[in-house]
Amino acid sequence: MKQLLLKNGRVIDPANGIDGQADVLLEKGKVQKVGARISPGGADVIDCKGLLVCPGFIDMHVHLREPGQEWKETIETGTRCAAHSGFTAVACMPNTTPVNDSRSVTELIVNAARERGMVRVHPIGAVSKGQKGEELAEMSDMVDAGAVAFSDDGHPVRSSLLMRKALEYSQIFGVPVIDHCEDRELVDGGVMNEGDVSTRLGLKGWPSVAEDILVQRDILLAEYTGGHVHIAHMSTGKAAEFVRRAKKQKVKVTCEVTPHHFALTDEAVGEFDTDAKMNPPLRSEADRKALIKAIADGTIDAIATDHAPHHPDEKCVEFACAPFGIIGLETAIPLSIDLLVHAGVISWDRLVELFTVNPARILGIEAGTLTPGVAADVTVIDPDREFVVDKSTTESKSVNTPFHGWKLRGCSVLTIVGGRIVHNRDE
Ligand SMILES: [Zn+2]
Repeated sequence: MKQLLLKNGRVIDPANGIDGQADVLLEKGKVQKVGARISPGGADVIDCKGLLVCPGFIDMHVHLREPGQEWKETIETGTRCAAHSGFTAVACMPNTTPVNDSRSVTELIVNAARERGMVRVHPIGAVSKGQKGEELAEMSDMVDAGAVAFSDDGHPVRSSLLMRKALEYSQIFGVPVIDHCEDRELVDGGVMNEGDVSTRLGLKGWPSVAEDILVQRDILLAEYTGGHVHIAHMSTGKAAEFVRRAKKQKVKVTCEVTPHHFALTDEAVGEFDTDAKMNPPLRSEADRKALIKAIADGTIDAIATDHAPHHPDEKCVEFACAPFGIIGLETAIPLSIDLLVHAGVISWDRLVELFTVNPARILGIEAGTLTPGVAADVTVIDPDREFVVDKSTTESKSVNTPFHGWKLRGCSVLTIVGGRIVHNRDE
């Protein structure tokens, strides 16, 4: 493999406290050197003037749908979509068919990703067998096979006893338990946020308190057990406040938000638009503002997409019957740049941290930095290039996005995995 020299870019590497003009030399799949005026030698040179050179972006919450739901997405199409979107690694949720609750399924995903994946794939194993919430899955076997966390995502861990056990056992392996916080009894079949819009549309509401209760329970259990809980796709202001307080008390809790929860509110459901149906649902403007504040003040650790492809045949049905979820890889970085950095909410440094070193630390993977010696995973960003969301050109197998037609400023232009260019927006 040839050496690659990224010249004259603004290098942003929060883990190493770097933000300034520098060159980055990649060699033999690793970061070789970061510094001023590195001589090209025999390297292929890419001029990055006016661009941001960052550690590879990581999406710690995607649904690749393989094995078992390949009409929605596959490891091949999902990782190609990730590469085109600026991500060098994804962590995939276990709600496949069969559920990733054993060594054999984890190995199948790892092997498929090695053969057909365009970016790195880190499997997340199920907390419970079959995600049924009854008994713990084979955690040790899955970690051996490459699982980086446990989650029953798609479902909450309903039993507090099981959550306690998961938080105790997961400490043996040093991995987090990621919870999808939804008190199913309180949600009671709700299909969108409970509020004025649900009332107007006559749709059953999914109240924010159903999320808050589980977030607070999980924080209490993390404090009690000393385990690490990570709150998936946090959508309410109150949950953000609970996490903020718990962090002050040194509880091992981390959390992520999705771009759709900081970009949209339940008004986006409009007239029964199923592309605005997700779980947790789009919330109120007060919640959206509270999430933005929590992104700005450091309460939120990561931005993750919850990329959830569904076939049009599944989404083109009555609102109440449609499945929850939207695709999110391609829009995540442009939405975050435009609505957070260009809007003056956060700095570039903070944005890069939310997508790189923080998710890497949560998942315990060696990534998210440009430290010499680490794998040469790099995301190059053009801060000013216009990005128009067009579902007809998506690399995903599915097209369920509420952002079609949005014009955003800023996007990735080059994705490099292990020193190899996997996507160049100009080619
Ligand atoms: Zn979920």
